Amino acid sequence: MKKNAAIIGFGGMGGWHANFMRHSDVINLVGVYDIKPERNAAAEEQGIRAYASLEELLADPAVELVTIATPNDVHKELAIRAMEAGKHVVCEKPVTMTSADLQDMIDASNRCGRIFTVHQNRRWDGEFLVMRDVYRSGDLGPIHHIESRCHGSRGIPGDWRQEPEYGGGMVFDWGIHLIDQIMGIVHDRTLRRVWCHCDHITNELVDDGFKLEMFFDGDLTALVEVGTSNFINMPRFYMTGRDGSAIIPEWGQPCREVWCFNYNEKDVVPVRTAAGITKTMAPRDEKSLSEKFIEQPHADVHDYYRNVVRAIDGEEEQLVTHHQMMVDIKIIEAAFESDRTGLPVDVELKF
Ligand code: NAD
Repeated sequence: MKKNAAIIGFGGMGGWHANFMRHSDVINLVGVYDIKPERNAAAEEQGIRAYASLEELLADPAVELVTIATPNDVHKELAIRAMEAGKHVVCEKPVTMTSADLQDMIDASNRCGRIFTVHQNRRWDGEFLVMRDVYRSGDLGPIHHIESRCHGSRGIPGDWRQEPEYGGGMVFDWGIHLIDQIMGIVHDRTLRRVWCHCDHITNELVDDGFKLEMFFDGDLTALVEVGTSNFINMPRFYMTGRDGSAIIPEWGQPCREVWCFNYNEKDVVPVRTAAGITKTMAPRDEKSLSEKFIEQPHADVHDYYRNVVRAIDGEEEQLVTHHQMMVDIKIIEAAFESDRTGLPVDVELKF
């Protein structure tokens, strides 16, 4: 059954949720609240009710679900207040900044008997869905390495994302999506260790990019890299296994999967460089390789709220679980610790 929802925080993402809810078959948007009067005025100009205060929103019995789209530092307080007021909660990512805070939010969900989940909308990205299918297909043989990158060249957006007290920085902004995706792909193995280096190319206070290495059981490694000073992009995704490799060069492009049917092919044309020749590194050709292109599947991100509503009605488990939320935040904590100490950090985490 359709649920009445209100949005707290009517900035960029609050606006996205509002627009999204207007086209939803499961959510009815009843109003928004923002601490900035001009954002409330902007909502009313769009024909959306703006509550005069947070208290008024939380006291409205018509509101069943609250979506929190404020900067990251206030997610915890707002989510707990909303659950204590009897509302179910969808929180924007990152759900909060520490595992201790997240535990308090999960405790509130259990105590209040309200659904509490986080908007990991990039689980519906086609790039992720293709790579997850490739991983599960076994086409490439046992997988030993995955790389997931997002590269931009415009620095950190010039708002609260530049400041640590609001939960700024790229680990929280994009890292949370890419970490969640890697854990969703490598769903069958335990993460044992992370090593992370944060970049400070344009900002000393928060990371404006990072390189996170993840070490899983069975000698599988993953590299998650976010950059905001990259003027040539590296591929969005790369995966390689014993029998083949797969790549998505850019957003929206199909996955190119290449696999080897004649591993011991002897007819190798060496690569000649100024300083020598190499057969070891010589590329293969059609004598030993096959390839195919896999289009990204169509995914409907409305399925996110459809699941939330079914979870509220007790018909389904919520897709983004408390356990998964905790795993993602603990990986971020370990990444920051590794960046601080310069050392790898041992963990034991699995979706
Ligand atoms: P924004 O700065 O554009 O908007 C935040 C809004 O929250 C502002 O209008 C601000 O006035 C308001 N606000 C701040 N504190 C408040 C409070 N205590 N009560 C009510 N309103 C308050 O930021 P944004 O880009 O919309 O990001 C908001 C959240 O959404 C962040 O957690 C961010 O990480 C997340 N986000 C998620 C995605 C995604 O794809 N899932 C994309 C962008 C942003």
